[in-house]
Amino acid sequence: MKNCIFCSIIKGDISAEILYSDDRVLAFTDVNAQAPEHFLVIPKEHIATANDATDESLMGSLSITAAKVAKERGFAEKGYRLVMNCNNDGGQTVSHIHLHCLGGRQMTWPPG
Ligand code: 5GP
Ligand code: ZN
Repeated sequence: MKNCIFCSIIKGDISAEILYSDDRVLAFTDVNAQAPEHFLVIPKEHIATANDATDESLMGSLSITAAKVAKERGFAEKGYRLVMNCNNDGGQTVSHIHLHCLGGRQMTWPPG
């Protein structure tokens, strides 16, 4: 989709540190990391919000990919947090769904 930052990353028009890529999903480092480890997993198809998701397999792939990358990066065993923000109250700022994976430090609860 035009004017979508994450679609531009998928196309290679905006650079990102790519951690994983296959035919359906892409994982890359968050440009404004909130933890020692912070990457995003996105579908290569433009889906605006969690409310618009219909493909259960694709949504599952985001989570499975996050775990795979966390294992590869060596922090899966200690733990991590997966977050998908939805719309304004959820704090979503980029309208292309993305699963945050945060790790490398102790997370706190409740989130802000
Ligand atoms: P949201 O607030 O929508 O849940 O998360 C959007 C995330 O995308 C933020 O953590 C932000 O730092 C990240 N982000 C926004 N623009 C870019 C970009 O151009 N490149 C990368 N790598 N991350 C971005
Ligand atoms: Zn997009």
